[in-house]
Amino acid sequence: MAEGVTGEKIWLDGGLVDWEDANVHILTHTLHYGLGVFEGIRCYKGDDGRSAIFQLHAHVRRLFASAHINMLEIPYSEDQVRQAILEILPANHLDEGYIRPLVFIGSGAMGLNPGKNPIRVAVMGWAWGAYLGDEGVQNGIRAKISTFARHHVNAKMTKGKTCGDYVNSILAKREALLDGYDEAIMLDTSGLVSEATGENLFLVRGDRLYTPPLPTVLDGITRNAIVQIARDKGIEVMEAQLTRDELYIADEIFLTGTAAEVTPVREVDHRTIGSGTRGPITKLLQTAFFDVVNGRDSKYERWLSYL
Ligand SMILES: *Cc1c(COP(=O)(O)O)cnc(C)c1O
Repeated sequence: MAEGVTGEKIWLDGGLVDWEDANVHILTHTLHYGLGVFEGIRCYKGDDGRSAIFQLHAHVRRLFASAHINMLEIPYSEDQVRQAILEILPANHLDEGYIRPLVFIGSGAMGLNPGKNPIRVAVMGWAWGAYLGDEGVQNGIRAKISTFARHHVNAKMTKGKTCGDYVNSILAKREALLDGYDEAIMLDTSGLVSEATGENLFLVRGDRLYTPPLPTVLDGITRNAIVQIARDKGIEVMEAQLTRDELYIADEIFLTGTAAEVTPVREVDHRTIGSGTRGPITKLLQTAFFDVVNGRDSKYERWLSYL
């Protein structure tokens, strides 16, 4: 467990259990076939010392939407799941961190049809720093175009965070790391830029911001926040189909996601992007984002749920 996360309590099937007792049977259906859904949520300790979950309602709504897409009936109300999310960090003596709700199919039937197997829910929380590293957040990461395509929308539906879909992301991520990069950027099956393995992508050209349209990408909550913040700052944002060479000639590129927050990309496929470090518009939006999540911008206080 050298790099493993650890803690004291996990919310499992309706209440808190000890961390080491949060185990499942080997016949757990999701373990075999990958049909489960999850969320990634962050809680920040703001400047005033209060802890707030960023976009709690949107995350829980998307968890239920992911379940609905996959015909998983969550045996709890949205409010019950929100309560579990609100209590998990304090139960682990944490005032900020990452929260992972997981909906999965328990054991029973073992064919592809899960039949009446129970739908189970867990909520975990742990301390997690910058997903792509502090240095990456400051100065940008190096990315490669993956040899793995993003699934076609009718092979893997794109609006849910479905466990098994992440095999595609893991293949791309490991390939990128083994090839000496920090992250993979994936093209869709028609060859257009889609997103990174767990992050949405933005490109700056001139004074405009571009991001791939929704069909092949996850409808990211951080993506939406950045679009809103940018527009409020008078920056024009357009959804646009982008080719890989449009990445190469971008002035700036950055990735957004709950885990990766706002991380600049300084190089793609050995082509330097812009000045080769975090660009000015990226910096502006990144600073604004961290101001919002840390409670320094009352304009967006509605996005925060205090513990
Ligand atoms: C979770 C995820 C994102 C980022 O979504 P957020 O809501 O901002 O966390 C982007 N792409 C993929 C594939 C993801 O799984």
